[in-house]
Amino acid sequence: MDIKTYLEQNKGEMIDLFEKIVNTDSNSYDKEGVDNVGAILKEKFESLGMYVKVHRETEVGNHLEIKASRESEPKILIIAHMDTVFPKGEPERRPFSIIDDKAYGPGVNDEKASHVQLLYAMKALKESSSPALENVHIIFNSDEEIGSRSSKALIKEAAEGKDFSLVVECGRPNDGVVTERKGVGHFTMEVQGRSAHSGVEPEIGRSAIEELSHKVIKLQQLNDYDQGLTVNVGLIKGGTSVNTVAPSATAEIDVRVADEEQAEKVTKDINAIAREDHVTGTRTELTGSIGRPAMEKTKDTDRLLEMIQNAGKELGLEIHEESTGGGSDAAFTSAEGIPTVDGMGPIGEFSHSETDEYSDLNSLIDRTALLVKTIERLS
Ligand SMILES: [Zn+2]
Repeated sequence: MDIKTYLEQNKGEMIDLFEKIVNTDSNSYDKEGVDNVGAILKEKFESLGMYVKVHRETEVGNHLEIKASRESEPKILIIAHMDTVFPKGEPERRPFSIIDDKAYGPGVNDEKASHVQLLYAMKALKESSSPALENVHIIFNSDEEIGSRSSKALIKEAAEGKDFSLVVECGRPNDGVVTERKGVGHFTMEVQGRSAHSGVEPEIGRSAIEELSHKVIKLQQLNDYDQGLTVNVGLIKGGTSVNTVAPSATAEIDVRVADEEQAEKVTKDINAIAREDHVTGTRTELTGSIGRPAMEKTKDTDRLLEMIQNAGKELGLEIHEESTGGGSDAAFTSAEGIPTVDGMGPIGEFSHSETDEYSDLNSLIDRTALLVKTIERLS
């Protein structure tokens, strides 16, 4: 049967599952919630006859690893995440809904639509007895939105020996996929000074706020948008009262880099700024790093993109590539030298937005079909 016909016939069932998953809380810090999503997926993939291994975690949700069978030695890695940025209770307040051909609700686009896509792609392969099913290795991780600290090692391990990596973060409008992403870092600069009464004996105080202010300006000056480098001091706090010389002050810094070289340089620069002394007698401590490398485009990425584009043509889709400043797990596999394309999930926009996030239901069918055709071509 034609793949799109098969999916259209199952569209009602796909949307029912989509609703169930969106209405299940799964904030990254809500282990129980993420595990509930994991349990739904485990049951579904197992009922397809696939092998599901649960990687137990104590703090974040468990990760799932799925293959056709325990013995399968797949060459294609597919990565999806189960956690969302929305607080516990959000689906109750703002449940799954459909307006026209768009689905709304917490995490619809980032990235619960992809869960449905992945399951039905596997169902379609199974239905057509495609040997390509043997070639798929899926990781559902639980902590992507908080930097994948606990799943990073699992992803890297699964990436070993793979020929291709497909990441199902949302697709971009007008049939876009993602071939480049910036690396992401988070630093915290903490300055300690000495408190003193600002009216009585200010001279014995050492203002941490004054010291940090000099540093903030220097940090902001590191920005080089043309070269793809951004350094944003997004949060500052400090001081104890208006009439006290501030004994402490802290800045939180978000950093985005285009490549590894830039990552090393900016890390050095931030360290140098931390070491500078403007107000004698203050001390500065810097923590943090570039936690996610940049997803850099290579010749192999181009080859993989071309294969995806050819798969798209079979479905009448003109797939184009995009780059983005947002980080994702795609960086981990591309850093291992594995050709990686991201944004393979259903199309939607405005991730992390309470009011605007949507997933396009027509693309749920198109992108599931695209994934199936791509897996078949790569196999
Ligand atoms: Zn995501």
